[in-house]
Amino acid sequence: CGIREIAAYGDSRAAVVGPENVFNFTIGSPSVKAPPCIEQSIRHLMETVPVEQLHAYTPAPGLLSVRRAMADYLNRTFVTQYAPTDIFMTSGACAALAIACAAMLSPGDEVLTLTPYFSEYRIYTEAVGGTLIEVPSDPETFQIDPAAVEAALSERTALVLLNSPNNPSGVVLGREGLTALAGLLTRKSAEYGHTIYILADEPYRDLVYGGVEVPFLPDLYPDTVYCTSFSKSLSLAGERVGYLAVSQQVAEHDALMAAIGGAARALGYINVSSMFQMVAAECVGQTADLSIYEANRNYLYRSLTELGYRCIRPDGAFYLFVQTPEGWCRRAMELDLLLVPGAEFACPGYARLAYCVPMEKLERAMPKFAALAQEFGL
Ligand code: PLP
Repeated sequence: CGIREIAAYGDSRAAVVGPENVFNFTIGSPSVKAPPCIEQSIRHLMETVPVEQLHAYTPAPGLLSVRRAMADYLNRTFVTQYAPTDIFMTSGACAALAIACAAMLSPGDEVLTLTPYFSEYRIYTEAVGGTLIEVPSDPETFQIDPAAVEAALSERTALVLLNSPNNPSGVVLGREGLTALAGLLTRKSAEYGHTIYILADEPYRDLVYGGVEVPFLPDLYPDTVYCTSFSKSLSLAGERVGYLAVSQQVAEHDALMAAIGGAARALGYINVSSMFQMVAAECVGQTADLSIYEANRNYLYRSLTELGYRCIRPDGAFYLFVQTPEGWCRRAMELDLLLVPGAEFACPGYARLAYCVPMEKLERAMPKFAALAQEFGL
């Protein structure tokens, strides 16, 4: 069953055995509170913005001042130069992905993505008649395997959808693999006579630990449409604010921006919450206290590997993807220990643990992991 079904099962068990006895590590919803700038910004906006603007419709791509704030942030952080009109505000990264797929794909087009991947990609691709092609990443590192990408490319490839830091593995795609990929896509675009775009899905960009570099794809490959949100970095998941960024260097920029506007309209989006657009503009560049996730990551990785579990140490996001023997997830569920089976991410033999929970919850779950490690002979 899917993530939300398992999470709902967790809720039903909580009603029976008490929430403190259910170890529900299924949902990637931030557990760290939003930083103080959010409340300050809301108060400030409520006091200063005229009421006819505060809760009003905005232009579909977002308020120009907000788009300028996003472009300025990207321009002072990375090399690429964005104009405010290159930014299209979206209801989180999910809407950005759905809109981008609808804008960029025609029926029969193929979208390549690396396994393991966020299962919504299939929904957005197939909804507009595209086909999602799963490309195995390097099984030891979950980094890009350029040979595997090359084998999967075809004249029908329109888009390569990349996610780093990755849900579910927490892996950050390294510069070496991305550079090789950029070279490959440049060569293949010329060979096929059409641009193969990258869609960079990066809502976890700020959630990286130990100073690991997250290369900015638009700087490496000009035909990159960049997508992000404030769901995780500012702990604003329920407020639904994100954006698409399409630099002037992206092939057919103007047509693409027009298609994005049309796709958003056809999908029923009017605009992102006016107040939270303004909040995001005031708080862009800040984050919630991400050291809390890093402490969880360190504890979890150390404890699970000591128990004999195998996993790649996640450098980002708030997920750990652990190798699990056949039947492990089912037995864990019987112990009220809920993880998402790897099959949900096209990677059977693993389970995803979302560690955006209080540390105390992880500590109290460890005896269950220990019992299962023993039972399965790890
Ligand atoms: N992309 C990935 C890989 C995700 O894991 C998520 C959410 O969990 C999203 C996109 C969408 O997040 P949102 O729409 O809240 O920005």
